[in-house]
Amino acid sequence: MPSVITAKEIEEVIAKGGDLKSLPADAILTPSAKDAIRDHANSRRSSASASTGSPAPAKPLNSKSPKSELDAYFNSTAARELKEQLCDIGRRLWQREYVDGNGGNIAIRVGEDIALCTPTLVSKGFMKPEDMCLVDFEGNQPCGAKKRTSEILMHMQIMKRQPKAVATCHCHPPYSTGFAVAGLVPPTCMIPEYEVFSSVAVAPYRTPGTPEMGQLVADLVDKHNTILMANHGVVSWSHNNLEDAYFKMEILEAYCRTVLVTAQLGKPAQTMTSGQLQDLLKIKASLGIPDPRHGLKECELCDNAEWRPGVACALPAKDTPTIGLDADAEAMVKVITDQLLAQMR
Ligand SMILES: [Zn+2]
Repeated sequence: MPSVITAKEIEEVIAKGGDLKSLPADAILTPSAKDAIRDHANSRRSSASASTGSPAPAKPLNSKSPKSELDAYFNSTAARELKEQLCDIGRRLWQREYVDGNGGNIAIRVGEDIALCTPTLVSKGFMKPEDMCLVDFEGNQPCGAKKRTSEILMHMQIMKRQPKAVATCHCHPPYSTGFAVAGLVPPTCMIPEYEVFSSVAVAPYRTPGTPEMGQLVADLVDKHNTILMANHGVVSWSHNNLEDAYFKMEILEAYCRTVLVTAQLGKPAQTMTSGQLQDLLKIKASLGIPDPRHGLKECELCDNAEWRPGVACALPAKDTPTIGLDADAEAMVKVITDQLLAQMR
């Protein structure tokens, strides 16, 4: 009677370095055993093709390097790995609905003034390593069949101004972009992750892809790693790697959602104390993450004066004494005062 072979037994044969061809010819394979054999074959094939690529260049490249050297790097195993990272992060941006249509773009610094980046007119969820482009800080593109993203200048201007930036990520996550449309930096002192890993500012609106837009963003990257681009989206940079730049998006987007939920609960947010924030800023400084609040005194922290959640703030607290006016009139006065103040800003 033929024997039944499971995925576990296949994995054991592979782990021991055994030959799968030595399995009995009449054996019955379970569906997961067939999958395990297929995965094993695929991984052997991809490691074989990766080893045919050339290794990373011995000396760092830059925009003045000979075209032959740039081409060799662009087709190397090292570049291939980074191109796969760009595809992987693109997929994650698309799956989380942080990009729409052809929106969003990503770049990884690969030399003094050159970077690998995503192409234009391709959904970030469906990119292939062959789609990627090599560009310099001026936006010239020496390598890559597809045309680079039109927003690359902004990424390059960030890397130029912030030498620590090894990767940049731009997308349009809806909650964060809502804050960008309102021109609001999210209020602080609510969630530790946000305080430690993010440092957010708003750049004014300019036409996407113009040098002026990139300039306004670059002016902020000395002290901020996540920039809300007014009426557009968000761009982040990391001093670690591309995944870390992407994490900044997840952290900001989750935070903006949480802040909006908090604002709708009709109760003032319970914020952390300045002392508690100071502890988090110490961790942030030790991680090498910039923040304009490094070095500030405790009493200068946790200032959310700009933050006015419409619904929660428009309702007067229940036991607020009313002088001459009833609660509804009081609330109306507050709404109008807030609107006038907002217009005067
Ligand atoms: Zn965009």
